[in-house]
Amino acid sequence: MVAVSMNPVDYLRISLIDRCNFRCHYCVPDEASLQYLLTSEQLSNGEIVTLLEQVFIPLGFRKFRLTGGEPLLRPQLVPLVRAIAHLPGVEDLSMTTNAYLLADLAQDLYDAGLNRLNISLDSLNPETFDQIIGNRGKSRWQQTWEGIQVAHRVGFDPLKLNVVVIPGVNDREVLDLAALTGDRHWHVRFIEFMPIGNDRLFNERAWIPSEELRQRIRAKWGLETAVVQGNGPADIFKIPGAKGTLGFISQMSECFCDRCNRMRLSADGWLRPCLLNEAAQMDLKTLLRTGVPPREIRAEVKALLDQKPEINFKMRDMGTTTGQYGRTMSQIGG
Ligand code: SAM
Ligand code: SF4
Repeated sequence: MVAVSMNPVDYLRISLIDRCNFRCHYCVPDEASLQYLLTSEQLSNGEIVTLLEQVFIPLGFRKFRLTGGEPLLRPQLVPLVRAIAHLPGVEDLSMTTNAYLLADLAQDLYDAGLNRLNISLDSLNPETFDQIIGNRGKSRWQQTWEGIQVAHRVGFDPLKLNVVVIPGVNDREVLDLAALTGDRHWHVRFIEFMPIGNDRLFNERAWIPSEELRQRIRAKWGLETAVVQGNGPADIFKIPGAKGTLGFISQMSECFCDRCNRMRLSADGWLRPCLLNEAAQMDLKTLLRTGVPPREIRAEVKALLDQKPEINFKMRDMGTTTGQYGRTMSQIGG
């Protein structure tokens, strides 16, 4: 018997592109020969705005996150951000990025109305960083770090830094990464690695329970719980006296499906009510392009929304969380 979600679903994660300029091992498996979408297969800026304005906002969605792949690779990104930010009903517009191209774009994105940034930064050590992102050329760490600094200076405050913790690779840096919160309003969030399209890593049990990380941090500085609004699945803590916070996203060691308030829209227009469930998806792009009126699309999305609490638990109920996934995280839009 599972608890049923009572959270209003008001948060849509929109993948803008399936391509990425990094190849993080936990996100894009080495041997993957990914088939990328053609531009014509992606939702256009106009289609995304239409879906938000006529389908999602009328259904009560208020928070939108732009992701990918790497969203900064999307052409015409700044006008899209401006258009979404100015839609009546949009209360929060954020983005998740690897920050590699951020230094040149941060000011324009801020001016266009982007409210918040989550940046993936798995290591403070350039060598480890390059190893994780699959880079064999000139190190990409410095340019990424510069992107983070520029975003901070431009006014994105607080900044959230996402760290996927991989045993034997970057877990030694957990204390150094946590220390970034000491004198900055940064929120460092440790994410348990998930087996999405990368089962080989998972079979080696490449994740560390959040509680183990908390124990390490507690032993060094102490740790107190912190109350912060709008953190979705993260459990929030604080090193006593620190300006920033520490978040723990523990999708492997804890089930937080009952707190899930989100849906995902892929770059090619598939609406996915649950990250772990590939069965229940809806092809909004085809509906739009075959002339189905937005009010009918809205009714179909509403029906899917009504089924979401049950869908959330289906994978876990069936015991198939280690099953095969057709798409990688970079394609779904993590
Ligand atoms: N490219 C952008 C970035 O890396 O921030 C946005 C897309 S990425 C798919 C979004 C988030 O998903 C990142 O924070 C990344 O660390 C996380 N992610 C990717 N694969 C993951 C996995 N297998 N388990 C847990 N988190 C993962
Ligand atoms: Fe690219 Fe982000 Fe996936 Fe890394 S986590 S490969 S940066 S999409």
